[in-house]
Amino acid sequence: MAPINAAKHFQYLVIGGGSGGIASARRAAEFGVSVGLVEKQALGGTCVNVGCVPKKLMFQAASHAEELHDMKDYGLNVNLTEPFNWKDVKERRDAYIKRLNGIYLNNLKNSKVELITGEAKFVDKDKVVVGDDTYSADHILIAVGGYPTWPSIPGAEHGISSDGFFELESLPSKSVVVGAGYIAVEMAGILKSLGSDVTQIIRKDKVLRTFDSLVVDAVTLEIENMGINLVKNTEVANVEKKQDGKLKVITKSGVVTDDVDCLLWAIGRTSNTANLGLDKAGIEVDKRGDIVVDDFQNTSNPRVYAVGDVIGKWQLTPVAIAAGRKLAHRLFNNETGLKLDYDNIPTVVFSHPPIGTCGITEAEARAKYEKVKVYQSSFTPLYHALTQRKQMTKMKLICAGDNEVVVGLHMIGRGCDEMLQGFGVATRMGATKKDFDNVVAIHPTSAEELVTMR
Ligand SMILES: Cc1cc2nc3c(=O)[nH]c(=O)nc-3n(C[C@H](O)[C@H](O)[C@H](O)COP(=O)(O)OP(=O)(O)OC[C@H]3O[C@@H](n4cnc5c(N)ncnc54)[C@H](O)[C@@H]3O)c2cc1C
Repeated sequence: MAPINAAKHFQYLVIGGGSGGIASARRAAEFGVSVGLVEKQALGGTCVNVGCVPKKLMFQAASHAEELHDMKDYGLNVNLTEPFNWKDVKERRDAYIKRLNGIYLNNLKNSKVELITGEAKFVDKDKVVVGDDTYSADHILIAVGGYPTWPSIPGAEHGISSDGFFELESLPSKSVVVGAGYIAVEMAGILKSLGSDVTQIIRKDKVLRTFDSLVVDAVTLEIENMGINLVKNTEVANVEKKQDGKLKVITKSGVVTDDVDCLLWAIGRTSNTANLGLDKAGIEVDKRGDIVVDDFQNTSNPRVYAVGDVIGKWQLTPVAIAAGRKLAHRLFNNETGLKLDYDNIPTVVFSHPPIGTCGITEAEARAKYEKVKVYQSSFTPLYHALTQRKQMTKMKLICAGDNEVVVGLHMIGRGCDEMLQGFGVATRMGATKKDFDNVVAIHPTSAEELVTMR
């Protein structure tokens, strides 16, 4: 049906009220620009509602559960009188997220960004409809993110995605997690640590295969050490729902996991571009459906830009935020050359133990540089000196050239998640191995290993 109202005009119209969209809209508004922001679901997008935030809260619950096992080795013989109360944590987690949604709404109001609720669709090169209303703009940002990819196999509908994970009302007693990416690794780890019997099915023989080999080998081993049944080199062929409501998950290699309460698909994400009317606006997508952009987030339509997950690279909240803000500075504050540098982005996987990584892998460094020197360390952190449960810490520094510039820093172990940010600053500034060595170590910590490697 044709829109009935005349078009309202903004200087900047942002589609998507997630990490990238909100950050860009608010920054643009600071420069005195009229800004509209369209959001079809909850403000805050994936990260706040079904991503980083609720995931990290569940990781924290899982970490407490792990440490409970270590308490008696530190002289605290804790006996729980009741099992883990998933429902209670979920209720408080949901309430916290609701508060965040409210804070986001207030922030938009305070920034004088006009919120338009509904699903946006392009009808022209510079026009978008939302319900019965049409909006035009000098500049339009697409920051619509993505959704979990669903497999097309018989019985797939009996599973849930990462979105469904956050709707679970109780801890599944038996779970199957399918996938080898970071979301699969994190969710399998949470479920296992909290007491579910977990099988993880992966297509190849290792998880997180795009990471540095040190991390790939170590995290794959830790997954098995924590008792997750890692089924390798296969895919799920079909899923049957039994009369008692439980599932039977059958792989192509014939492995059967029976009596499953929760089957979680974590096999990737797909950009939200199919229903956006991109053809009407002359916006190019690649064969995966991700929007094609240049280094400045420009799409093939000179008035339209894209940031965040929808461009299909570095799908992380701070990346979407940084790209969105830099774009606002470029468009509305005359900072013409400004763009996000996608090199040396530090990132963490909340596995058990966590992974911290920044820069390129050893394989990438060897392909790129003539002279590469690798420093490595593997040790049992002091925390585990007294515990029966052991998790190793492993670290690798990849240095290039005669002056040994640190081009890759990869680690897995207790505390590596919080350890990385500062080292991210150092690598971004072009620190050399000598710069690392010149820093006096903090003792006794795991981090000191990074400045004392030989
Ligand atoms: C389980 C999970 C865990 C994660 N953990 C981390 C983590 O620990 N650290 C990290 O950095 N990143 C993490 N991420 C990734 C992070 O959530 C994303 O990279 C980030 O949210 C991307 O921001 P965005 O602005 O591109 O998209 P989103 O945050 O997805 O926002 C897009 C918004 O656009 C809206 N929208 C879509 N289509 C339309 C339309 N046509 N009209 C109007 N609105 C529309 C959507 O409703 C959504 O609110 C995680 C993701 C998942 C799924």
